[in-house]
Amino acid sequence: MSAHPTRIGWFSAGDVECDPPPPARDHPYRLVLLGPPGVGKGTQALLLSEHLRACHLSTGDLFRAAKCQCAPSPAMQAAIDVMNRGELVREDLVIQMVRERSKCIQCHGGFLLDGFPRNVHQAEALSALLDELRVTLDAVVSYELPLDEIVARLSGRRTCSECRAVYHVTSQPPSHPDRCDHCGAALVQRDDDRPEAIRVRMQTYESETQPLTDYYSRSGKLLRVPAHGAPREICRRMLAALHALDVPARVKP
Ligand code: AMP
Repeated sequence: MSAHPTRIGWFSAGDVECDPPPPARDHPYRLVLLGPPGVGKGTQALLLSEHLRACHLSTGDLFRAAKCQCAPSPAMQAAIDVMNRGELVREDLVIQMVRERSKCIQCHGGFLLDGFPRNVHQAEALSALLDELRVTLDAVVSYELPLDEIVARLSGRRTCSECRAVYHVTSQPPSHPDRCDHCGAALVQRDDDRPEAIRVRMQTYESETQPLTDYYSRSGKLLRVPAHGAPREICRRMLAALHALDVPARVKP
């Protein structure tokens, strides 16, 4: 798997194989990443996919990819409108989307699930799916940061319109202004990073997603990771926490 896999299986949902296929290994990493919008989950997922060689599966990226289709279905268009307002997409639709991608969940390369589950109901749906597929989670990572730092991060975030690499205008700028270092495509500000959408997303996170940390802490798999500092420092902190959890000695922080 390259540092930035295409995630074609995730985006297309069908029987499309990833190219190159993920390398075979005895035990793939299977993690859920939690954290408020803007905490840096996308950046961490990219770094972790380099270290752990597991694919970044983001439900938000799926909806943003659907926005680029010239003729999304009426149901998908409704989901996109909801997303642009910063609200959550309908529960049954999201769960169905993840179920359609069971191959990715079973992939022997492992996964870093980002954006799903977002509430306890979705967590229960994921747990049922994992049981059906006989897949076990290694850990659930909760990235944590004070609100004012989150707002500063979100307003400066820029995303590649093609490969979805993530930058920040001050803390992680691209080499050439507004151009992606990986593929050269234009960098854009996400519609849901506008201030009014940010407010809605933070409220939604606090009411819906925070109870998830209680849910997962009961399973003993929750890793709380302070998300301040440089991206690579946060990544090292996370790998050390994963190591301490004894998710095995496969990880060297
Ligand atoms: P994200 O990139 O994870 O911040 O997701 C961007 C947007 O996609 C969210 O604000 C929602 O509108 C939608 N979305 C992504 N994942 C989910 C989910 N699990 N449940 C509901 N809506 C979601």
